[in-house]
Amino acid sequence: MKCPLLPGSNGHFTFTLPHARVELMEGVPFARIDSITVPLLDAPETSAAALMLPLQFVTEILPAHGGGFFYDASAAELRTFEAVLRHSPAPRPPAGGVGAAVGTGGATGKSSQPPSVTYPHPSRRLIVVDAGHGGPDHGMTGPIGDDPWFVEKDVALAVARKLADALRAEGMDVLMTRTSDTLIALSDRGRIANRSKGDVFLSIHVNAPGRSDAAGARERGFETYFLAEAKTEDEQRVERMENESVRFETGANAPKGDPLNFIITDMAQNEHLRESSDLAATIQDGLKSVHPGPSRGVQQANFAVLRGSYMPAVLVEIGFGTNAAEAGYLSDTDNQTALARNIAASVVSYLAHYESRVGGIR
Ligand SMILES: [Zn+2]
Repeated sequence: MKCPLLPGSNGHFTFTLPHARVELMEGVPFARIDSITVPLLDAPETSAAALMLPLQFVTEILPAHGGGFFYDASAAELRTFEAVLRHSPAPRPPAGGVGAAVGTGGATGKSSQPPSVTYPHPSRRLIVVDAGHGGPDHGMTGPIGDDPWFVEKDVALAVARKLADALRAEGMDVLMTRTSDTLIALSDRGRIANRSKGDVFLSIHVNAPGRSDAAGARERGFETYFLAEAKTEDEQRVERMENESVRFETGANAPKGDPLNFIITDMAQNEHLRESSDLAATIQDGLKSVHPGPSRGVQQANFAVLRGSYMPAVLVEIGFGTNAAEAGYLSDTDNQTALARNIAASVVSYLAHYESRVGGIR
């Protein structure tokens, strides 16, 4: 679906929103919004002196990155927050949604209002680090056959903190979804990532097998997930286990379950599938050099925590807390640091590779 936007020349289009600067280029399926590059479902093209953009730009990208916009799916309208309207003449919400014009008044690039968000280090990358579970949601406990002394939420937080330190040491900016023993709704974890305009989303978890017998206790190793429909029985088990956290979420935090929202979110996430898959492979490969293993490979699953993030997103199961030896390994501070540094190095290497392929759209 396309919608006309504004006339431009030389294939480059720039316009200033009250809270963000948007750059587009004809034939290039990416939008640059402030310092971040966002993939588009379709490349912009010009037709009858108007720039045609995929409808996704209005339904997802402006709400996620534009600052002060939300898309009302039931009315098929792009709306602005009141606070934005007070700042400057905001774009008019398009009527009808499909095939609608995005406010040419506020989006012509002639606005005298400079973007209110500025980035002192436009090249710096923001990594969102998510420690799994928290608060009343303990995640898995182990090991099997012992009094449960290993608690996933605690080890996930310890490793996530060390990962944040390691990423900062590599020159990255870091946002943690939680820094203490609190419960953050799964849907909010992705939302935090989007609001912060994160470049990469990393979720840290500890694994448990589907059975609590002797064979289950022998399961060990690490695996990295990216978002997709769960395929194997094992992938579906981990997906169910990690999505269980939803039952701890009540009231305002509970997912609304709007099928249209889900479809839109799913579409946006598909754009990041290849990137997420590459990131997962880089992390999984890197861990082979520090983790006693075995490597269980790159997996795919439809994790609620990954579903809401509009950026390359992976979930790392750093080992089995149900296996006595691995629970011991994962609880050791030095091992946690080694795992964290290894994952951080993989993120740096992935980003360097990603930037060399995608680059800017300028
Ligand atoms: Zn978990």
